[in-house]
Amino acid sequence: MKKPALFAYWSSLLCALFLTISGCTIDNSQTSDLSGIEGPLQIVCTTGMIGDAMARVAGDRAEVVSLMGPGVDPHLYKATQGDLRKLNQADVVFFNGLHLEGKMGEVLEKVGRLKPVIALGDSLPSQRLINSTNYASAYDPHIWFDVALWSEAVGRATQTLAKLDTAHRNQYLEGYATFQKELEALDGEVTRQIQEIPEEQRILITAHDAFEYFGKAYDIEVRGLQGISTVSEFGLKDISNLVNLIVDRSIKAVFVESSVPRKSLEAVVEGCAQRGHKTIIGGTLYSDAMGAAGTPAGTYPGMVRANVQTIVSALK
Ligand SMILES: [Zn+2]
Repeated sequence: MKKPALFAYWSSLLCALFLTISGCTIDNSQTSDLSGIEGPLQIVCTTGMIGDAMARVAGDRAEVVSLMGPGVDPHLYKATQGDLRKLNQADVVFFNGLHLEGKMGEVLEKVGRLKPVIALGDSLPSQRLINSTNYASAYDPHIWFDVALWSEAVGRATQTLAKLDTAHRNQYLEGYATFQKELEALDGEVTRQIQEIPEEQRILITAHDAFEYFGKAYDIEVRGLQGISTVSEFGLKDISNLVNLIVDRSIKAVFVESSVPRKSLEAVVEGCAQRGHKTIIGGTLYSDAMGAAGTPAGTYPGMVRANVQTIVSALK
């Protein structure tokens, strides 16, 4: 037995053993070869943001499907029968990871035993991630709100895809290079626009803590009524804490999210009115889902631009 073959034998044995012990998702991206597949590759992604990125990377080599459409909350989303069919037919699957798709873990793990299932978030070095304030030893999954970090995650996913489908490696690398340039320009644009908000008004209040990466990258304070997952409950105390903050600092606007019911923040606005301070709902942000296909927020760069425009015009 040659050395590489022996190594492959031992690693598959170890992996099988590890799986038995831990039930982990197998990353069989090292062993699959997609080069032989003719016609478009079937790529299935969980969120629209990932689907948008992988479509840019893969171009006409792949048909890309996103399971979660506009307004869908990934923290609560469960795979439908139609999703299971799509996952079964997929050649490769990309998901966010870091527990974003909290209710799809088991399904993705099962699919991962049969084909490459790749988490964008899990590929990033831990020092680039933000620790969750709600869950010990977990990371905040909302990595797409730091445009540079998202670009890095997509770059890593591109490398994996290029290794799986070596025959089309150059196409993927070129697709990514174009997208990366666009994201670099977008990153600068967001930085400049957020700086237009007067410093004392530079605070982003939303329904759930989706914007920590955004806040860190673009120098704006962020507060959410709910934690990093919409699974967690919020109580009257959370509302009154937020009302106190808004009144004390004369904050002009708070923001609802397209994937979270708006009533939680309406209670905050009402609470401020009772204290004699007028704050408004400054608009709807696309937090965990993009806008409808064909609308300006129906792509990842468009979603980021729409959010920034909403934030800046309400707080400036
Ligand atoms: Zn979220």
